[in-house]
Amino acid sequence: MAEYIWIDGSNGVRSKTKTVSKAVKSVDELPEWNFDGSSTGQAPGDNSDVYIRPVAMFPDPLRLGDNILVLCETWDPDGTPNKFNYRHEAARLMEANAEHEIWFGLEQEYTLLGAEGWPYGWPAGRGYPGPQGPYYCGVGTGKVFCRDIVEAHYKACLYSGIKISGINAEVMPAQWEYQVGPCVGIELGDHLWMSRFLLHRIAEEFGAKVTFAPKPIPGDWNGAGLHTNVSSKEMREEGGMKHIEAAMKKLEPRQVEHIKVYGEGNADRLTGKHETGNIDKFTWGVADRGASVRIPRSCAREGKGYFEDRRPASNADPYQITGIIVETIYGGLPP
Ligand code: ADP
Ligand code: MN
Ligand code: MN
Ligand code: MN
Ligand code: MN
Repeated sequence: MAEYIWIDGSNGVRSKTKTVSKAVKSVDELPEWNFDGSSTGQAPGDNSDVYIRPVAMFPDPLRLGDNILVLCETWDPDGTPNKFNYRHEAARLMEANAEHEIWFGLEQEYTLLGAEGWPYGWPAGRGYPGPQGPYYCGVGTGKVFCRDIVEAHYKACLYSGIKISGINAEVMPAQWEYQVGPCVGIELGDHLWMSRFLLHRIAEEFGAKVTFAPKPIPGDWNGAGLHTNVSSKEMREEGGMKHIEAAMKKLEPRQVEHIKVYGEGNADRLTGKHETGNIDKFTWGVADRGASVRIPRSCAREGKGYFEDRRPASNADPYQITGIIVETIYGGLPP
């Protein structure tokens, strides 16, 4: 069984299964397929075929054996990328800048909800738990919720070869984080999307819903982000800090363009409170969790390393995030 997975028109994932006659060793052995794009908001009803082209495959942690998960790009019948295929251009940008060996590590925050749409474990009837404080990296009943789902997801990602590098319980109860990376170039978007697919799929087994909303509960509750850690070969080498500082100068005038692709509803999260920066102004600083970009203290001390773009919202598309960062720092594609 090959589970063909694609990104739909509303930032979600869809999938359907194809029987293949023998074990598949490489993604090029898999045929192109198609789906009804009018049912997913990706095509008009009178010209509804959208083509799905396999681009990456992973062992299937649920079906086991030779069964696989297949990540696909979406293509229109006229041979152009579908409107929601952000991978195509990002892959070209990564390819054009391969010499910089760009690494990305993303911190995916999310919230688990019960069937009625309220955070899992919160008092019934839309009640609230006690104020934030005991929950971040919490241990014990009443401090963390749904650890079973989180553990199952972590193990599933490891089985599939997704470069998941850790997990932690977040500041708001029923909110969690996992990290993917470091990955090189386009691999980050591929691994992050597969990790999202697995999160939805595994939460489904437990009757829980996953929300990537950047501010799921209004008020004094932390929002959810997708902190994006970035380094190039030059930044990681001796004296790399000057390359990091040069990148900051490039990022500064492009705040508006970046925020445009850093997720929907991000204005409710980037308020300057709850460890966020202001949405209208680019700032950066060492160890500053209230800045748009933070340089980790250890990197400043060593004079090399990476930077953390704290602006992306949890629901942003990793291909769009990593694509615009590369475009801003190294320039766009030649016409
Ligand atoms: P935080 O302290 O912000 O919570 P985390 O430990 O959650 O940080 O996440 C840090 C992320 O940065 C991880 O995904 C890790 O893989 C990534 N990372 C570490 N070093 C680099 C690097 N040189 N370039 C890019 N990403 C990196
Ligand atoms: Mn049918
Ligand atoms: Mn983190
Ligand atoms: Mn976090
Ligand atoms: Mn972070």
